[in-house]
Amino acid sequence: MCICINCTYVDRCVTYHAVESQHLQPHLNEHPDFEALSPTVNVNIATDAGNIQMEWDVISCDSFVSEAGKWIKLRPGHPIPN
Ligand code: SF4
Repeated sequence: MCICINCTYVDRCVTYHAVESQHLQPHLNEHPDFEALSPTVNVNIATDAGNIQMEWDVISCDSFVSEAGKWIKLRPGHPIPN
């Protein structure tokens, strides 16, 4: 799971904005203004009935600041991204 969903910068972060794009998710913020330091993105590739699926997750980041439930506070009632 992407650590960003519990990071205080999730709605300002350029890296998370890119992850949203890869997952074809709506953006929390169309104009992010925060550059994360040394984010590490894990890319899982799977095939399903001939379709290639890619899942992008930030697994570590020097800018991470814990704020539990930050993403769901911004999108209450929505399914939490994997
Ligand atoms: S963990 Fe890093 S990449 Fe993810 S939202 Fe926070 S600052 Fe951005």
